[in-house]
Amino acid sequence: MIMSDKAHCFKMSSINKHVFGTTEWAVANANYLNGCSNDCKYCYSKEMAIRFKRKTVDSWKDEVVNWPAFYRNIRHKDGYIMFPSTHDITPEHLGLALDYILRLLNNDNTVLIVTKPSFQCIEHLCNALGDFKDRILFRFTIGSINSETLRLWEPNAPCYAERKQSLIYAYNAGFKTSISCEPMLDDQVSALINDLSEYVTDAIWLGKMNFLLRRLNANGHLNPQMRNAAEQLLFWQSDSAILSLYEAYKDNPKIKWKESIKKVVGLEISTKKGEDK
Ligand code: SF4
Repeated sequence: MIMSDKAHCFKMSSINKHVFGTTEWAVANANYLNGCSNDCKYCYSKEMAIRFKRKTVDSWKDEVVNWPAFYRNIRHKDGYIMFPSTHDITPEHLGLALDYILRLLNNDNTVLIVTKPSFQCIEHLCNALGDFKDRILFRFTIGSINSETLRLWEPNAPCYAERKQSLIYAYNAGFKTSISCEPMLDDQVSALINDLSEYVTDAIWLGKMNFLLRRLNANGHLNPQMRNAAEQLLFWQSDSAILSLYEAYKDNPKIKWKESIKKVVGLEISTKKGEDK
């Protein structure tokens, strides 16, 4: 993610109406699974599911279909609908994902497909959705080029090589492609940008890790190893480090900055849902 962090949050600040989380990218979210087998340690959706007693620390990784949500008709909206935002597209439910995306498209929507990409899933979706390339934007979440780092934070999600392979496949198939490097998982962002830029037609979004210690604690992962990893990551995302990163890439037209970085470097934060900029 899974944010994305897939911060998944569709609220707006009550004070200044700035958009953040998924509202920076899309006018609406669409989901139908409860749980996510990737089981990312920083997952916002897991934190919410535990808080509202829909899931436990251990059961979050079990994906359960919410059938009423699956069959809900999502009518046309002006702007991207982000799918999914509180789970992922995994091989176990790939058939449902394709069916759902087709229903969104057949209602004349544009779809932002956000995933930590499994190659099996991306190959299948690209082969099935070729007629809709103009209304699909892939956004692959890749927070590090180091698979050990990915495994530490996102234990069951695909490794770096598989995510890169998925990106290249979608790019070669003629789809619009983008990267979510949110949350950034180390201090090797430049290496990631250098390695992936040529396969990105749209943008590489950079964003900080949000509410890390709170989420690790809520999600049952605040052990000594993860506390050390979290403190290292917070150091890498200090204001001075973020300002250096911004200086290095502020003139790169492919790089976009999430709200967590905009407020550090002084960029204007959008007040309009789904501007995707
Ligand atoms: S991929 Fe799944 S577990 Fe990871 S952040 Fe997204 S919803 Fe949470």
